[in-house]
Amino acid sequence: MGRVVGIDLGTTNSVIAVMEGGRPVVIPNSEGSRITPSVVAFNKEGELLVGQMARRQAVLNPQNTYYGIKRFMGRKYSELSEASKRVPYTIRRDELDNIKIRCPRLKKEFAPEEISAMILRRLAEEAERYLGEEVTGAVITVPAYFNDSQRQATRDAGRIAGLEVLRIINEPTAAALAYGLDKRKNERILVFDLGGGTFDVSILEVGDGVFEVKATSGDTQLGGNDFDKKIVDWLADRFLEEEGVDLRKDRQALQRLTEAAEKAKIELSGVSVSEINLPFITATEDGPKHLEATLTRAQFEELCGDLVSRLRKPLQRALKDAGMTPFDIDEVILVGGSTRIPMVQDLVRSFIDLEPNQNINPDEVVAMGAAIQAGILAGEVEDILLLDVTPLSIGVETVGGLTKKVVPRNTTIPVRRSEIFSTSENNQTTVEIHVVQGEREMAADNKSLGRFKLTGIPPAPRGVPQIQVSFDIDANGILQVIARDKTTGREQSIVIQGASNLPPSEIERMIKEAEEFAQLDRQRRERVEKRNRARALADQAQRRLREVALDFGSQFANRYRQDIDNICKEILDALEKEDDRRLDKSIADLEDVLYELNREARLQYKQEEGEGFFESIKKTFMGDDEEEYDWRRQRQPNPRYGNRDYPANYSPRDNGDSYPSANPPRYKPEGGYRIGKKNLSIPYENDWDDDDDW
Ligand code: ADP
Ligand code: MG
Repeated sequence: MGRVVGIDLGTTNSVIAVMEGGRPVVIPNSEGSRITPSVVAFNKEGELLVGQMARRQAVLNPQNTYYGIKRFMGRKYSELSEASKRVPYTIRRDELDNIKIRCPRLKKEFAPEEISAMILRRLAEEAERYLGEEVTGAVITVPAYFNDSQRQATRDAGRIAGLEVLRIINEPTAAALAYGLDKRKNERILVFDLGGGTFDVSILEVGDGVFEVKATSGDTQLGGNDFDKKIVDWLADRFLEEEGVDLRKDRQALQRLTEAAEKAKIELSGVSVSEINLPFITATEDGPKHLEATLTRAQFEELCGDLVSRLRKPLQRALKDAGMTPFDIDEVILVGGSTRIPMVQDLVRSFIDLEPNQNINPDEVVAMGAAIQAGILAGEVEDILLLDVTPLSIGVETVGGLTKKVVPRNTTIPVRRSEIFSTSENNQTTVEIHVVQGEREMAADNKSLGRFKLTGIPPAPRGVPQIQVSFDIDANGILQVIARDKTTGREQSIVIQGASNLPPSEIERMIKEAEEFAQLDRQRRERVEKRNRARALADQAQRRLREVALDFGSQFANRYRQDIDNICKEILDALEKEDDRRLDKSIADLEDVLYELNREARLQYKQEEGEGFFESIKKTFMGDDEEEYDWRRQRQPNPRYGNRDYPANYSPRDNGDSYPSANPPRYKPEGGYRIGKKNLSIPYENDWDDDDDW
């Protein structure tokens, strides 16, 4: 069993963390950033890009760049608002009213779960590189307000990514867990999480290792993006009025507008005026058109007034459900990038009359909490009990289309509740039970989770058969329904239909495809790395030639020059002609020559200095039993992690103190070797005089 990580799979950004030495640690990605944009794209070559790379090329490739996918997870097409359908890529409804995302580049369609899986897979790979260990399991967070379908979809995404999803936990609960890990005194905390696409508020009681969620509420369709959209509309309406062109109809212009709007919004969190400049945003018969605007914080606040009022309702409801008033709250924790908006902070302040806690990082706290939960499940973290609740009531549609609630919202999970149902007609042998989730009176107004048909009921007068339907909500907040015919004592098998989730066969197919993708991805990456390595090796060889010429004279160097020059030429040629086989051979040849050269240089040193300075140093550090380092060992790529030899200019992360050395050390002192500060030394410089990476 490999490692278990915690993942905050955000609408906008995702973060991965792991427990190390009893503390949650955020893992930076290979670009050195601790948060990864939840953006997936396919570039011209059909290559998969995830994160910042995908985000950067969005404007030029809007149709093949997917962001905000979390908004589509576990939802039906018909449930989407007009605004959330407005994305620069194409989404479509399939025959089951499920959402499909078009990828013109690959001439393919994806389910939202598959796109999310690509993000999860990439994060897990980054973690594997960082940890030097396989990642097999994950705790993934979801907004507390996610319904059953949305949770299932998230779990399916994890499975498609090849991860065992050990637990789905609520984001605010995770945040509280990270905040309260060391808290011993009793506190009532309110977690206010406003991210890019969702809003969540939870109230918890924390103390002595017990985390009890008292109430949770929110809005899955409200977040920073909506603030961006307000600005986009404001800009587009003005432009339409002035120039007669609706920029929202042009995918590229819309993408640029959206990016500019977000930038302005973020600026307005710090300053009171923001300039928006978009040259060449479109062209008319009169020539190119530019967009220029000035947005003040006051204007922005006016535009978004209704969004801020929408934040109040879930706040009020959470307090009411928890049986508390604002005065009962001891601490407010702000989570999510959008809580940096001054107007949002003001709302919280005026509502609770408390200064929000400023000690936690709103971007990272959720992933850290997920890592702690992973630690709890792995037995690494003890003495913590997490009592979460179900965010929405679950019930059944009864005669007349009414909802009969079976598990009310904010019930502590895991929970099992049952109800007895019967037939409404004589000799009825089948009943259909429609399971819904939500707070509305009429079943049709709630989210339909599925329909269950119970068949084989022995004929009897109406009202006589007793069918017990049990609702099981597990610790993930995921529902299972078990039905039993009490008359016969038989458990009935039930069939779920109409839920917005993928059927198992589809998931199996997607898992396979995702593996193929990952394989392809790895091959591509290995190829790029090999090419980089070849270049670095050629440079290194030339550098070594110069060094030995300086140290031992040109005669010594000339013995190798011809060979090295020839092979380097061969390498460059193979690189240019993309001849991989020749490249492999030349790399091997050059490594052999370098090996010889280094060996001879070492002998030369021995001769020149005898048991001099160098030897004594070496003995001090390594002892006597030196083991010759073999260049060839470096050419064995680990089949799972790809090739871990990095090119000379590769520096995966800035704070990688615990990152295992990219190149195996040459000497192995007794009791193992230590990984020093300078742990990412260049493989081809790992020769005898480079001993300072110990
Ligand atoms: P999610 O949980 O949805 O992935 P995040 O918590 O990462 O989202 O928040 C992303 C949102 O926060 C985006 O809409 C982004 O524009 C917004 N955001 C980030 N920084 C700021 C800021 N300084 N001011 C206002 N909004 C911000
Ligand atoms: Mg978030």
